[in-house]
Amino acid sequence: MDFIEFIQQNPETKPFWDAAAVDRFVLPWCLQCHRTHWYPRGVCPHCHSTELDWRESPGEGEIYSFAVNRRGKEPYVLAYVALNEGPIMLSNVVDADPAALSIGTKVKVVFKPDGLEGSIPLFALR
Ligand SMILES: [Zn+2]
Repeated sequence: MDFIEFIQQNPETKPFWDAAAVDRFVLPWCLQCHRTHWYPRGVCPHCHSTELDWRESPGEGEIYSFAVNRRGKEPYVLAYVALNEGPIMLSNVVDADPAALSIGTKVKVVFKPDGLEGSIPLFALR
């Protein structure tokens, strides 16, 4: 099972999913306070500005917390990833031995087919 927060598209998240569909990772960027935030929304949670834009991110960070679900055919890792830009994102860590993971493990975004026509950004070891 692949998971990422706010899996559904809406007008506030559409630019994120449009970028992900072509393997680009973008984060919301506030033009007033020059900070990023997560999750995407119409108002900056830091300064309440509505002057927002999107900035490409290398998608690098580290595991903030994680859990291994072993109930399925294959274990999968649900993790909070602290991005280098600051926000913490709930996602999956893939292509990794769960036993090799720990808090602080460095990860980087990878794009996996979403089962439709696009890609979903997940995280793998770097
Ligand atoms: Zn702001």
